[in-house]
Amino acid sequence: MFEKVYRQLRRFIPPEPCSICGKPGHDDVALCNLCREKLPTLRNIPLELQKHPQWEKIIIPYRYSDPLSPLIQQLKFNHKLHHARLFGALMLESLQYAMDDTPDYILPVPLHPRRLRQRGFNQALEIIHTPAKQLGISVDLTSCRREIHTEAQAGLKASARRENLRDAFTVTRQLNGKSIAIFDDVVTTGSTMRALTTTLKRGGAGKIQLWALAYTPPHG
Ligand SMILES: [Zn+2]
Repeated sequence: MFEKVYRQLRRFIPPEPCSICGKPGHDDVALCNLCREKLPTLRNIPLELQKHPQWEKIIIPYRYSDPLSPLIQQLKFNHKLHHARLFGALMLESLQYAMDDTPDYILPVPLHPRRLRQRGFNQALEIIHTPAKQLGISVDLTSCRREIHTEAQAGLKASARRENLRDAFTVTRQLNGKSIAIFDDVVTTGSTMRALTTTLKRGGAGKIQLWALAYTPPHG
């Protein structure tokens, strides 16, 4: 009911301004056609993610670079929560195009409770909840917890990183073969996603898909 009224009202509201240049957006998405063409498409899934075959399917539509990366930064660090709507709309398009199997759940990568308190929101959840609803897939917020504050590991060597991540997540219930798509805003080495996948599989999960908005290559 509400959505119908909203849709009718929507026709009288000018489109949201483009998140990048500020000109009128297009098709209910806060992005103009010109800026949309400038989005940094990720043409091939990087080998370092592909060579670990625990993911049934990897869907990552963009590279983490201009003009997308400043918007992601603004979402995470300046509370520009409206960008999550734009990213959600972009994710929805890619999922509709690339998804083969519909997962039972989408699991936004959990933040450590301390990080969640600092930021006030989980950006992965903010981005994915609307596309999840539109695709009719449940978002799972309860079956996995982040136990270790792992985000300060940029300075660690790969082996130390893996060690630090090994017990980063805990599964809180039996997952009974359910298929799960894990989602994060940005993926780099994939080490966090691998740790999460291992934990979910140990907890009884079936097929796991890896979804993210953007990929950025690791430095050095
Ligand atoms: Zn624009």
